[in-house]
Amino acid sequence: MIFSGLNTTYVVKPKKHLGQHFLRDGNIARKIVEQLPLSAVNILEIGPGTGVLTRHLLNREKTNLKVIEIDREAVCHLQETFPGLSNHIIHDDFLSSDLSGIFNGNFSVIGNFPYNISSQILFRILQMQSRIDDVVGMFQKEVADRIVSPPGSRVYGILSVLVRVHYKPEKLFEVAPDVFYPVPKVKSAVIRLTKNQTKYNVRDEKLLHTLVKTAFNQRRKTLKNALKKLPFPDDITNSELFSRRAEELSIDDYITLAAALENTSGKK
Ligand code: SAH
Repeated sequence: MIFSGLNTTYVVKPKKHLGQHFLRDGNIARKIVEQLPLSAVNILEIGPGTGVLTRHLLNREKTNLKVIEIDREAVCHLQETFPGLSNHIIHDDFLSSDLSGIFNGNFSVIGNFPYNISSQILFRILQMQSRIDDVVGMFQKEVADRIVSPPGSRVYGILSVLVRVHYKPEKLFEVAPDVFYPVPKVKSAVIRLTKNQTKYNVRDEKLLHTLVKTAFNQRRKTLKNALKKLPFPDDITNSELFSRRAEELSIDDYITLAAALENTSGKK
């Protein structure tokens, strides 16, 4: 146990700009790691920090673990604490690192994500979704709520839609601020994303992203107004769907609209 209280010395100086809030409750760390499916073998931990989750990940059977950490001081600490992991520690920025060759085959992702870039981390995960089977992650509670919220809900938004196109999201449990050092101003929650068994047919992922972002950018407006600039065919712009607002559309509706857009974009 690295931190036993707020007055203890720390091995890695917490850096605000890296969103560092170290979990100091070993039981919660174990509980988070237990949320990965037993079948997960290739595992990537994002932002291991002082290694509180890493320790439990290394205790799993049949686990091929790699970790990616941006902070040099944390990397040095991890190398000293877990000498066997040395060759599996990537000192890099998850948001810009090329991880295409990191594992032979698909992998799972886990992490207590830095709150300041947690949405960007999720977008990057979505970019790599064809390789990532499941995700267990700690987010700021509000972000977690947005990710898991269903259509029609007040906080249903861009991430809720884009995540559900590929994954089934579940909110697992909340975590109080006082189990971190330093104590964050926000509550946290752990969520799990599990790859959808039945895949939606998305030919142009970028176009889908543009569509969803444009719709939610003006979420109070009907789609007829919010999506004016996108080249939809007339039969769609005059349909009942276009009299609704972004938050009233299901994933199927977005897939239908994206397909219509693919057709018109393809003709140009
Ligand atoms: N998992 C640890 C640390 C959580 S704090 C724990 O639970 O205690 C978030 C961690 O993410 C920090 O270690 C921070 O240095 C790291 N981090 C921040 N931005 C990152 C990035 N872009 N790429 C990789 N790691 C990052």
